[in-house]
Amino acid sequence: LRMVQAAPIGADAVSDEELRPQGLDEFIGQPQLKAQMKLFLDAARKRGVAPDHILLAGPPGLGKTTLAMIVAHELESAIRVTSGPAIAHAGDLASILSSLEEGEVLFIDEIHRLPRPAEELLYIAMEDFRVDVVVGKGPGASSIPLTLPRFTVVGATTREGMLPAPLRARFGFTAHLDFYPRSEMQRLIQRSSAVLGLPVDDDAADQLARRSRGTPRIANRLLRRVRDWAVVHDLPRVDAQAVIESLDLYQIDTEGLDRLDMAVLEAICRNFNGGPVGLNNLAAMVGEESETVETVCEPYLVREGFLIRTPKGRVATRKAWQHLGILPPDDVNV
Ligand code: ATP
Repeated sequence: LRMVQAAPIGADAVSDEELRPQGLDEFIGQPQLKAQMKLFLDAARKRGVAPDHILLAGPPGLGKTTLAMIVAHELESAIRVTSGPAIAHAGDLASILSSLEEGEVLFIDEIHRLPRPAEELLYIAMEDFRVDVVVGKGPGASSIPLTLPRFTVVGATTREGMLPAPLRARFGFTAHLDFYPRSEMQRLIQRSSAVLGLPVDDDAADQLARRSRGTPRIANRLLRRVRDWAVVHDLPRVDAQAVIESLDLYQIDTEGLDRLDMAVLEAICRNFNGGPVGLNNLAAMVGEESETVETVCEPYLVREGFLIRTPKGRVATRKAWQHLGILPPDDVNV
């Protein structure tokens, strides 16, 4: 079996870590979420107990992993990292749980993808701080109840609706992350460029912000491509022209739409004459899973006014037709 790496591991992965804010104060944007989180963590600190379990929901790349790390940092506790798909059997989770120490943070990424038996084990552990460890095999097997120290689960999900109600109910605090508005993206880019030691003009940061799809991970990736350009062209600082030229070279969409976003708009306009089209038909047309189209792609397209959801299906707006450079049919009135 060979593992195929989607993206090369290397310099970018390293600087992902260097760009990660450590404390809540350094986390850019999402002011309401930050205020709630601060209160929640301050209270736990003051009471001297591990806080309630935290669920982080939202599209990829908006800072869920970062926030989980921040929770541990603010509580000065250790963090264990795992993910739903990494846990094949309930026993895998039981062994992680039984090795946790008082006050530790357990980060479970893609928590909606935990197998059902692990899920059941988890919500008992979250509620009663207890896990039943199975000893032996077959008819002779017995289970020994084990008391766990107080710990905090931080779960991350792109699919909150897929979490079964009993599991969802075990979280004391749910934070919804949304795409960052352009002004916050601009601040985030300024922060990252300061960390990288690369001066960036305000209008250059704004050009980058526009192309970043409201997503910090994308902004940081584009910033590194712009840095390459600055290095090669011996630029002492990045101006708007450098951003535009370098990102044009990489064919980055000026509205930040990625390949899948564009494929979805193309499909609605070219194959379904602007819609309405149902999610499953649309997903089949672009060769993606419905879940991905619905949770990763659509929220951004809707927020930016390229798409609307109607009871009959998805409809492309005038803005979408314009962005594709196709003349909309006369009856497009959204
Ligand atoms: P996924 O759900 O796919 O794991 P994520 O939402 O956990 O994605 P992160 O890995 O936390 O995304 O964030 C992606 C990158 O963006 C990180 O390198 C982090 O440094 C940066 N980042 C995210 N949010 C912020 C923020 N609010 N302020 C500053 N940097 C951020």
